[in-house]
Amino acid sequence: MQRTPRSNRLQIAILGRRNAGKSSLINALTNQDIALVSEVPGTTADPVYKAMEIPPIGPVTLIDTAGIDDIGELGMLRAEKTWSVLEKVDLVVLVIDATLGIGVPERSVMERLSEMGAGDAGNCGKSRQTGGVPVVAVANKVDLAPLAPIRKWEDTLGTEITEVSSLTGEGTEKVKERIIASAPADWEGPSLTGDLVNPGDIVILVTPLDIQAPKGRLILPQVQTIRDLLDNNARVMVVKEDAVAKSIEELKVLPNLVITDSQVFGVVSNQVPSNVRLTSFSIIFAKHKGDLSTLAAGARHVSNLKPGAKVLIAEACTHHPVGDDIGRVKIPRWLEKHVGGKLDFSWTSGIGFPSDLKDFDLVVHCGGCMVTRREMLRRIAQVRQAGVPIVNYGVLIAYLHGIMERALKAINEAGIS
Ligand code: SF4
Repeated sequence: MQRTPRSNRLQIAILGRRNAGKSSLINALTNQDIALVSEVPGTTADPVYKAMEIPPIGPVTLIDTAGIDDIGELGMLRAEKTWSVLEKVDLVVLVIDATLGIGVPERSVMERLSEMGAGDAGNCGKSRQTGGVPVVAVANKVDLAPLAPIRKWEDTLGTEITEVSSLTGEGTEKVKERIIASAPADWEGPSLTGDLVNPGDIVILVTPLDIQAPKGRLILPQVQTIRDLLDNNARVMVVKEDAVAKSIEELKVLPNLVITDSQVFGVVSNQVPSNVRLTSFSIIFAKHKGDLSTLAAGARHVSNLKPGAKVLIAEACTHHPVGDDIGRVKIPRWLEKHVGGKLDFSWTSGIGFPSDLKDFDLVVHCGGCMVTRREMLRRIAQVRQAGVPIVNYGVLIAYLHGIMERALKAINEAGIS
């Protein structure tokens, strides 16, 4: 379970005031002392990620956050970090201190989620769905406040409140049940390859081992794709880009699908017969993470770019750029060649994403394998809201090399767009 990538787990933020018992609730839910509990308000500083298994959902991440009512200069910074967590989570557990009741902090959580207006997140059982993020409200410390007017608070917040005592464990099973009932049905997104292959299909994966490949292992998107194909009972052959033609030649039947690293799409495309479907890791991840049709439209917009246009290159994780780095060197070079002049590039990486995007003419995003589907969809929606086209590396590279339509064909044939 600990090896499941964080981006593949349901993300659950535990929110509430300082000392409402958020860390104690995590410990009660997990039956472990994994979160630091203290009577001193403000013990949890930065968000802390804890993995646990909640069948039948599977692996989830509980995010322990600083109090939303934190005070002082540092406290307000901590609270801001808590609010920023909301942008990427699939579900919120709002912890109400039963000895204090409902106040500004609790109402703020509901209001903030409403303001986010992220759209429908699916079936949410009895929990209130606020801005697309289901909320499971719990009143903690009921052992200290047996007369707490829970029903009145339910009317105020417009949602069911589960009574919990982290001290005695009362109510924690009910909280898990509500999490299971409230988890958005589509939080995982479509299967990476389930709609592209049938059991028994032969799939060739092309993975270059160049200077950017980590020593001794495959990168996460490749590993996840292999696992997903095996889950779908496909037969998988993994080769480097110079062995594609020979591998196909030696097979008794044509492969059903070839999935390649985007950077060698051109080389691979020449080796794969035109009647064999060919796509890229980036494109299947774009489909898996969400809005492939928007990304394809963003690629087509590249033909409108003029020299001097402002382009933001966004990567969802930080990594040390090596040699001919894809985001720093190759994509800028290919784009400038295509446009026929210099472009004005900016870069962003990691969890931060600029809020002011309207001055850009194009946003080019990485495949986003390290972030959740919700986070990717939020970024895409934010860019669209600013009226700026957005494309991802894989779709853009396919477009710039004149092979986008072929790369998308395998997806379109499966009726996905
Ligand atoms: S830059 Fe993007 S695609 Fe590459 S590893 Fe990081 S999150 Fe994944």
